[in-house]
Order: sequence, then C-alpha cells, then structure tokens
Amino acid sequence: MTVKKSPGASTDYARIIGAARQKIFAGPERLLLNIVSECPLRCSFCYTHSCLINNRAARPQAMSLSRIRQIAAAADRWDARQITLVGRGEPTCHPRFQEIVAALSSKNRQISLLTNATFPARTACCVAKIARISVTLCAPDRKNYLKIHSPAVPGIYDLVIRNMAFLAGLRRKFGKPSTEIVFVLTRETIPLVPAMLAWVERTGIDKLRFQPFFPVKETQNLAPGQKDIKLLSEFCSAYATRAWSFEHNLRDIPGQLRSSAISRPARCYEGWFSLYIDSDSSVRYCCLNKHTSIGSLDKNSLEEIWRSKKAENVRAEWRTPPPQNPAKEDYCARCVYVRQNTLHGKRIDHILTRNLGLNVM
Ligand code: SF4
Ligand code: SF4
Repeated sequence: MTVKKSPGASTDYARIIGAARQKIFAGPERLLLNIVSECPLRCSFCYTHSCLINNRAARPQAMSLSRIRQIAAAADRWDARQITLVGRGEPTCHPRFQEIVAALSSKNRQISLLTNATFPARTACCVAKIARISVTLCAPDRKNYLKIHSPAVPGIYDLVIRNMAFLAGLRRKFGKPSTEIVFVLTRETIPLVPAMLAWVERTGIDKLRFQPFFPVKETQNLAPGQKDIKLLSEFCSAYATRAWSFEHNLRDIPGQLRSSAISRPARCYEGWFSLYIDSDSSVRYCCLNKHTSIGSLDKNSLEEIWRSKKAENVRAEWRTPPPQNPAKEDYCARCVYVRQNTLHGKRIDHILTRNLGLNVM
C-alpha cells in the first residue's frame, strides 16, 4: 500500500498508518532522553545506585548541550509531541538543566520529567515550565525516607518535602505541572502504603502510581514475599474503592505481583512511535528493552538511524515480543507500555478497518 500525505494529513496519522503497514512515514511521536547518570540518592530498590550495590559500574558522562540541541532540531522536524527527561540518575543534576529545558521546549510539545524532587531552588523556575512530573518517592516520613532513599544525605528529606509542596502549589495556581508519585513496591515499602495514601491526599498531588519492583542480584532480598503480597492485597481491598482526591492504580496491583510475566503486550508498536537516546549516544526505540538497539549518534544522525535498515529489522523483530528466552533478559515481561500499545492497536484498527477498509496486519 502506498500512503500519500495530502496537505491535510497529520503527522500523527502518518505514524499510525506506518505502524500498521510496517513502514516509516513519519518521525517518532515521543523521545526519551537519558541526560545524566549521577544521582544524589541511593534508593535501596534502585537497579543502578542502590546502597546495596557495592561495585557500581562506571557511568557515562552527561549528555552534552550541543547533542541535546541536535536532538531538539530533529524533534522539530519530526513534529514530535513529547520529550521525556529520564535518567539512570537524576536529570536535574545535569549542570545545564535549565538550558536543556529551554532548548527542548516548543509550543507543540510537552516536556515530561522523571525526578526524585531533589532539585535546587535555582532550578525551580525551570521545573515549573514542565508539563508532567513523575517523582520517585516511597516513604511518607523522614525516618523511612532516610532508610529507603538516602542513608548518606540526611538533610535532603527537607528539600524533597519543600519541593513537593512547591509543585503542588504551582499546580493549584497555574494548572501545571501535573505531578504523580511513583511508589515502588518492595518488602520495605509495602507496609507504608496506607501512610503514603494519606500523605498524597494531604499534599494535593494528582496521582499515586504503585509500581512492581524488579530486583537485581544485590537487591533480591527486597522482593516481596508471600506475606508482603498478602498484606498488600489487604490494603488494596481496604483502600482501593475509597474516595481519594487523587488517581491511583491500587486495584491493578495484586494481580501484577502474583504473576512473573505481568504485562507482555501481544503487539509492540513502540518502534513506530518512540525513540530513546542514552547519554552515551546509543539509540534504541524502547527505553526498557536493550535488545531494541538501532544505532549510535556518534556514527549517524538521528534521522539516518530512525530510517535505517537496522531499525526496520529491529522493529519487525520486536513487533511481536517473543516469549521469555532464558539466554536473554526478558524486558518485555515487565513492559510499562502495555496500555500505550493497546491504544496504538485500537487506533490502527479503527483507521484501517473503518476509514480505509483494510485488514489490520
Ligand atoms: S532517585 Fe532514581 S536514580 Fe536515584 S537512586 Fe533513587 S531510583 Fe535510583
Ligand atoms: S518492553 Fe514493551 S515497549 Fe519495550 S520492546 Fe518490549 S513490548 Fe515493546
């Protein structure tokens, strides 16, 4: 099938048609950038910086501002809708964070940030320009915060609490940023769920998202056991249907924790919609799945990588995520893009079957 872009056809439409026909008719909708790998915290559950990991791997340097400007220019040409600043560390630690946000901002684009809310006061005005902020926070009080997040930097708790109040105040006054708390469910944190629900209600945050924990070798002891899962199920029964002032996903959690392959989508369309760029210049289409690597900015431009034969092959290979292979880490079993993939699938189905009278592949 040949799809001609009429002047009225949107880039979004071209992306969907491309995903359905396994061709590239437009650039990605969303870019994820890992701009820095340093973090002031040592959260016990962290797969890179955990205080339980003694031999931490050498970390790549922060992404340069000139690299980020190149990426911003590609995002403009592609009409990318969203840029998410993530990190194997804390993005606001980047020494040029304010310039980065300015370089990536555009009126047609939303900037999202994954942070631990340890940003300094000088960064606050720039954080206020961001549309959506996800804060990793798994402790509702000082004692547990210091134990879980920051055994070595006790003073940081006050900064985090001040910043959370600041974010909630911005939301009330200006309508943004929308803020969610990401709460990782470990053996240590599960008993804190009721107190965390109450804390979020008091603080006026938009959303509390509970997230299953995926341990590495050193953090294996934090994996919830049967008793913890039972306790969590009791909390879910007691609190999930209560009228909270914020969104949460408590109802989905017990089932997810019981199953090892919690969320493998039947089809993966991320290769037509997303691109992840690491601070070492490597590029893949899924931020989670290292097997979706498609090139390096040290060798090719972003556009060349996106349209390359290698990218085409990797997209096709991962369109149907294969079942667990013991020889390879099974990232797709813990896919965080299941809903997104389902949504893409529905949009593709709708356009092809209703508008064009074609069968979805
Ligand atoms: S804030 Fe994030 S990157 Fe930093 S230690 Fe905690 S989980 Fe890891
Ligand atoms: S983890 Fe999810 S988004 Fe990533 S390749 Fe696997 S199925 Fe696709």
